[in-house]
Amino acid sequence: MNRTIRIIGVPIDLGQSKRGVDLGPGALRYAGLAEKLQALGHRVIDGGNLGVAVRETIPGQAQQHYLPAIAQACLAVYRAARQAVADGETPLFIGGDHTLAIGSIGGVTHSAPAGLLWIDAHGDFNTTETTISGNIHGMTLALLLGEGYPQLVDVGRPGAKLAARDVVMIAIRDLDPGERRRLRASGITVYTMRDIDERGIGPVVREALERLEHHERLHVSLDMDCLEPQAGPGVGTPSPGGLTCREAQLMMEIIADCGRCASLDIVEINPILDRHNITALLAVELAASLFGKRIL
Ligand code: MG
Ligand code: MG
Repeated sequence: MNRTIRIIGVPIDLGQSKRGVDLGPGALRYAGLAEKLQALGHRVIDGGNLGVAVRETIPGQAQQHYLPAIAQACLAVYRAARQAVADGETPLFIGGDHTLAIGSIGGVTHSAPAGLLWIDAHGDFNTTETTISGNIHGMTLALLLGEGYPQLVDVGRPGAKLAARDVVMIAIRDLDPGERRRLRASGITVYTMRDIDERGIGPVVREALERLEHHERLHVSLDMDCLEPQAGPGVGTPSPGGLTCREAQLMMEIIADCGRCASLDIVEINPILDRHNITALLAVELAASLFGKRIL
């Protein structure tokens, strides 16, 4: 299937404290993202980067975890996502930290629901009650399900953007205690690294897709810290015991086979913490597999 893929850069670093994740969109472009996807036969439009406030210009927002600026940026992402879907395009959001998914997933579900594959070492399921760091990128999925700061829950349209049955999580291995309790009670299907170790990534991903069979369209939210840190060192919150390169590739190849992936986030690449841009280069390979690259 040949698509029109619209690259939407979101250089947001306000959802966490390590500096450099705002440079992620550049790192992915230098790694040849557009060229790799074009080589597969897709039409690729790079829409450039959306405007995001630079932290140094809004010191007064530090106390409130940059909530107003994050809400503003996510609204721009939401509108871009909504427009791309309305135009029949496949939006590809490149971050930036995982807060951008408040806008991307909100926007792609504006007119019709979609299933969500959340691929991450972390749950990003904290609320103001359970968070240890206060970082908003650790709350993104909770916000999308309608829990947390109302200014962020209501970005684009009021209330929850997804229900628990619309979400499957893969590669999870690092949860805060309160977040863990919330996730267990949530009804979300969670495949931890233990599930992948015991059953293999192939059966896990196939079952994950079955769980979302009631959706014609799927959104993939790929936090690059899902990978083993040796494979993907350029992330702000690395967590040992993650996916190998091949497991991640196979996951993308199986999702591609189902033909339902309609949009993608690639988030949390921090080039300052990376080695020779290998994390962005790997992300480009994963995006290519998701959009149809085959070995043979
Ligand atoms: Mg994340
Ligand atoms: Mg993460």
